[in-house]
Amino acid sequence: MLDSFQEECGVFGIAGHPDAANLTYLGLYALQHRGQESAGIVSSDGKNLHSQKAMGLVADIFTEDRIKKLPGTMAIGHNRYSTTGDSIAINIQPIHVNFALGGLAVAHNGNLVNAAILKAELEAYGSIFTTTMDSEVIVHLIAQSRCATMHERVIDALTHVQGSYSLLIMTENEIIAMRDPHGFRPLSLGKLDGAYVVASETCAFDLIEAEYIRDVAPGEMLVISDQGVRSSFPLKPEEPSHCIFEFIYFARPDSRVFGQNVYTIRKNFGRQLARETGIEADVVIPVPDSGVPAALGFAEEAGIPFDTGLIRNHYIGRTFIEPRQSIRHFGVKIKLNPVQDALKGKRVVVVDDSIVRGTTSKKIIKMIRKAGAAEIHMRISSPPTLYPCYYGIDTPTRQELIASTHNIEEIRKYITADTLGYISLDGIQKVVPNRMNYCAACFDGAYPVPFPREQMMQLGLFDKG
Ligand code: AMP
Repeated sequence: MLDSFQEECGVFGIAGHPDAANLTYLGLYALQHRGQESAGIVSSDGKNLHSQKAMGLVADIFTEDRIKKLPGTMAIGHNRYSTTGDSIAINIQPIHVNFALGGLAVAHNGNLVNAAILKAELEAYGSIFTTTMDSEVIVHLIAQSRCATMHERVIDALTHVQGSYSLLIMTENEIIAMRDPHGFRPLSLGKLDGAYVVASETCAFDLIEAEYIRDVAPGEMLVISDQGVRSSFPLKPEEPSHCIFEFIYFARPDSRVFGQNVYTIRKNFGRQLARETGIEADVVIPVPDSGVPAALGFAEEAGIPFDTGLIRNHYIGRTFIEPRQSIRHFGVKIKLNPVQDALKGKRVVVVDDSIVRGTTSKKIIKMIRKAGAAEIHMRISSPPTLYPCYYGIDTPTRQELIASTHNIEEIRKYITADTLGYISLDGIQKVVPNRMNYCAACFDGAYPVPFPREQMMQLGLFDKG
């Protein structure tokens, strides 16, 4: 179960629309960047839930035939990526079960830090788990709750779980949308032809031409049905801890998350990076696509021309989002190719959003040097990634994070750059409004939700002595 803890996902839901399944398909298509391993949609016709899910990309899974098998005016959907070991069909969300109160479907983006302990407790009481996902714990907690109504059961279940969740729960006649009290992962509310929609990112609303209303607030529960939407705050409030990595890498730049346009924030990271690590050079090039806005900001601030020095092949997934190490290593080569004329004889600033293991940067620099660049200055629009994320972004263990085991000069040597510069943590916190409202645990190790002791042992977060 611990292996399944790093998950990156996207969720979408709609209630009160005759084309619910079709619109959910489109919503998931817009959220494809949040998970490319598998996808699923569960719809409700008011009497029964209907489910279609498979491994692969949204556009390949949801054929006309499959969408026809999803009748009704309500639907929720999920895109999933998980780490090695869990790339299996039983783990496709939404989870769909029948229990004492009827049908139940759950789509979860986030990560429950006490899932292993809750699972052991639930199993001791007779629960039989059929997936290896932390999200399944929520289903069992709802089913085992002694509360009478569905709402009470959901609230009861959520008082037991700790960690991050942007969650959609659907029964035959309503969708419950819930964001954890810290608001780690994004979740927005919109409206289309009188129907309410919820999605991980607003880019899903843009595609279906839904109007963005507002973000679901941290700790807020929305009950959405054909009759409209009701809001409540059933859990103990907490300090907000929005994931700063959504801005750095994960969310799409055209989305609004945490009330901000991701593109603008990313571009401002680039400007700040130039102020902190500026250097004389002939050209600034991004590592496409995620490095583009920061590279533009860097170039504008530094007064150095921006150019396209690397061309990306878009017909393969994001390299990092591949379950096997061997594919990831090969992936950089098949994904990116240098433009010789833009690089030859030039002093080049290369801007990327992050260095995780260092593999990508090393290969990119090798390519650019081979294309004839005179100097290569690597600039990173996030601080060194020192700590793993346990709240829903896929990161490797501490030992595999290059910045955790090497200083900046050692990383520079490893990736073979002439110079290497990272934006400071203070720098990114200057760019985002209300800097205290963000989780930056991957950079400073300040985890806002503590881990149960047993799990900290397993994760190696306790000192051996
Ligand atoms: P690495 O080769 O391990 O250093 O990976 C760095 C590259 O992976 C950068 O180009 C990032 O854009 C990308 N990246 C960083 N974090 C993630 C993540 N959580 N999921 C997918 N890709 C990532």
